[in-house]
Amino acid sequence: MMEINKKEESDISFRIRNIILAWGEKNMRNFPWRHTGDPYKILIAEIMLHRTRAEQVNRIYDSFIMKYPDIYAIVDAGPHALKNDLKSLGLSYRGDMLYRLAAQIIEKYDGNIPDNINDLASLPGIGDYAASAVMCSAYKSPAPFLDTNTVRIISRVYGIKPTDSSRRSKEFKMIMNSIIDSSDTRKLMFSMLDFAAIVCTHHTPECSVCGLNRDCIFHKEMK
Ligand code: SF4
Repeated sequence: MMEINKKEESDISFRIRNIILAWGEKNMRNFPWRHTGDPYKILIAEIMLHRTRAEQVNRIYDSFIMKYPDIYAIVDAGPHALKNDLKSLGLSYRGDMLYRLAAQIIEKYDGNIPDNINDLASLPGIGDYAASAVMCSAYKSPAPFLDTNTVRIISRVYGIKPTDSSRRSKEFKMIMNSIIDSSDTRKLMFSMLDFAAIVCTHHTPECSVCGLNRDCIFHKEMK
């Protein structure tokens, strides 16, 4: 496999950021949780989006938020009602978790969604990715939002073989941190997720029209 040095890595990170942000300007998808700065609404979206397609979440998100407008409404409803309302996404098993998470936020944080990554990641059912996504999206704070999609882009462009633990690996976190620009963290995250869903897809990446193909080791090796 081809290798790149540190200087090249930093130049590539710069280009990834700019190319994906420019792509996002024209192509970013429109979902309701992307138009709010409310940490509660963003946290609910991230819980629903875990292993679930954004289009599916989009079908129930607004009605769920209308029914449960804040963290107190979640606790008032109780796990049974939550399970019912999450059933259409196949997520009824997250009803208990959502209830425990809401109860913990009320008990430990006075009903406020934590604004630091460690407290977020300590909540029931919240992993590193969801915690980073809330930091980026709600608090506009740079955090390495690594999921299977963003790992795919990084692994292909930099020529690093992905593994089950790439999302938690130091190497991927360092690269993601070098890509993130603090002033555009929220926009960059949405653009990168959509770029992975539309251009750098799992099975049929659109390399011929991809702005990253000049740098991408995966593409060079496929030619
Ligand atoms: S060139 Fe192909 S593999 Fe590389 S980032 Fe673009 S779409 Fe993905």
